[in-house]
Amino acid sequence: RTIAGWPHRGGPAVTGRSMERRPVFGGNWKMNPGSVREAHALAAGVRRRLGSWHKADVALFAPGPYLPTAHEALRDARVALGAQDLFPADGGAFTGGMSPPMLQSVGATWALAGHSERRTVFGEDDAVVGAKVRAGLAAGLQVVLCIGETREQRDQGATLHVLARQLEVGLHGVKDLARLVVAYEPVWAIGTGQVATPALAQQTHAGIRAILADRRGAAAAQATRIQYGGSVKPHNAAELLAQPDIDGALVGGASLDPDAFAAIVKAAGGGR
Ligand code: PEP
Repeated sequence: RTIAGWPHRGGPAVTGRSMERRPVFGGNWKMNPGSVREAHALAAGVRRRLGSWHKADVALFAPGPYLPTAHEALRDARVALGAQDLFPADGGAFTGGMSPPMLQSVGATWALAGHSERRTVFGEDDAVVGAKVRAGLAAGLQVVLCIGETREQRDQGATLHVLARQLEVGLHGVKDLARLVVAYEPVWAIGTGQVATPALAQQTHAGIRAILADRRGAAAAQATRIQYGGSVKPHNAAELLAQPDIDGALVGGASLDPDAFAAIVKAAGGGR
C-alpha cells in the first residue's frame, strides 16, 4: 500500500489489523490532580476498575511527586506506572531533572517522550526527544514516543513529512523497537475536544506504519503499537479503536475520571 505524497519502496503490505499487537492505553494526568491525596484516590479508582483487566496494557503517567503514592495504590495490580518526562542522564548537575534510575526506583516502568506540551511549552526539539527515548529504553523503561502535526502543517499537506522527521530523529540510534510505542497525537486535537475522525486517524496511522516499514522493515512496522491521542472520550473511543492500525489510546483529560478512563480502555475489548 502506498502513501500519497510519500516515497514508499514497496514490499509487503504492512498496514491493517494484527492480532499480535496487544492494545495499549496510557492515562496522561499532566500537571494534575492538585494534591497527593487526590492522586492516591485517582490511582486507587483506576485500580478498582482496571486492576485485573487482562485485555490490554494500561499505564498511568503521574507527575513525579506522585509516583511513590501511585505506585503504592497500584501495587500488585495489572496497571503500570509511567513518568511524563525524564532527563537523559543517570545523575549529576541537572537541576530539576529526573533520571531513569530515579523514576524506576519509585515504581515507574514506562515513560513518555516528546509530548506536544513538552515540545511547545518546554521547547524540546526532536533531538532532545530522541535523547530521552534512547535513555529511557537503555534503562529498561517502555517508552511512548509522541508525534503529531499542527493544524497549519496538516493544512499545508505536510503531515507525513513532519511525522517522518519526528520518527527519524526521535528514533535515531534506537535499534530495537520492542519496548517502544508510538503515540500519534495531532496537536490540534489535544485538549481541544476536536477529535480526529476515525477515517483520518486510520489514514495517518497507516502512513506512520508505512514510514516505519520504509525505515525499519515490514516486521518491525507490523509489530509496533501505535496509539491515537487527542480528545479521546468514552463516546468516541470504540469507533477509533475499531480502526485496523489504531492499537490503543493515550488519554489526557478523560484519564482524570476513573469511570471515563476505564470505559475507554474497555472499548478496545470488542473486535479484538
Ligand atoms: C494528551 O495529553 O496526551 C491528550 C491526548 O490529551 P486529551 O485527551 O485531553 O486531548
